[in-house]
Amino acid sequence: MTEVRNEQKPAQPLPWHADIWAQWSHQLHDDRLPHALLITGLPGLGKRTLARALAHRLLCEAPQGPHACGHCEACQMMAAGFHPDWHQLSPEAEGKALKIDQIREMTLQVQQSAQRGGHKLVLIWPAEAMNLYAANALLKTLEEPEPRTQFVLVSDQPSSLPATLRSRCQHWKVQPPPLSQGQDWLAHQLSEDQCPQQLLKAAGGRPLQALKMARPEQEQQRQLLYEALDRLTRDAEVTEVASQLKSLPLADCLDSLQNWLADSLRYTLFAEAGVQDVRQLPLYQQWHALMSVRQRIKLDLDCRQARLGLKQNPNPELFIENLLISLTKELGHE
Ligand SMILES: [Zn+2]
Repeated sequence: MTEVRNEQKPAQPLPWHADIWAQWSHQLHDDRLPHALLITGLPGLGKRTLARALAHRLLCEAPQGPHACGHCEACQMMAAGFHPDWHQLSPEAEGKALKIDQIREMTLQVQQSAQRGGHKLVLIWPAEAMNLYAANALLKTLEEPEPRTQFVLVSDQPSSLPATLRSRCQHWKVQPPPLSQGQDWLAHQLSEDQCPQQLLKAAGGRPLQALKMARPEQEQQRQLLYEALDRLTRDAEVTEVASQLKSLPLADCLDSLQNWLADSLRYTLFAEAGVQDVRQLPLYQQWHALMSVRQRIKLDLDCRQARLGLKQNPNPELFIENLLISLTKELGHE
């Protein structure tokens, strides 16, 4: 079971999805897979890969045991990225809301019988991007399920979903793999000069997050952020620093900042041995002297709060500036 590097192969569950996959396979075999599934878990655990694997399995016209065959016409359509009974719903742009019109359009489509006579499958990601109207419209659709229509909602932040909607879905939480399993998988994806152990550690044990962090452009983005933190610590102007960061993807910027804060806390709590990114030690030492644990936890909460604001499609420079202002407040540079 490997990640889909080759688009022609059907999506497969990842090794650490094995338990969930086995349970789904049993449910499918007994024809009691609930019509709405909610897959949750931290980012970087392959939740969408798991959802796509289920889609491939359900739409495949000659499945082999628990897996799609990869050869039939339906599998070829899936591999080409088009199957008439496969509906993927996401916001029109990253960070934007998923709108009621998108849910309505999908509902109209799934009310018709499957074009290829089998299952229909709807993937909604990220489910928390649905605004309240969209979530209510989906709730109505889930309350009157069409036969052989499978809904899969994928969410990093299920607590942002209305409780009524959550209660309509069977909930599956993807957990990070044991370290050795994550490293083995990662080693197969990376080039030889990259260290799976180090990357996985820096990614908090989340293999796909580690893979993302291994990309050169991600490393460059992190360096920019670290330089900004260093400059702010040395009392640089917030507006000037913010304008240098405005081109970074905001969600990645928040991820990196939260990872950095968590690692700086590990330094305070466990000293050098607990740190994941030793290159940051000089800055962690400064922050240890300048800022309490409580203050850094407060900053982490500010980041979480800021993340909710991403849905409103904020002005990047202002967004970064506000984030940096809360940082400098805690640094006492007001
Ligand atoms: Zn097939």
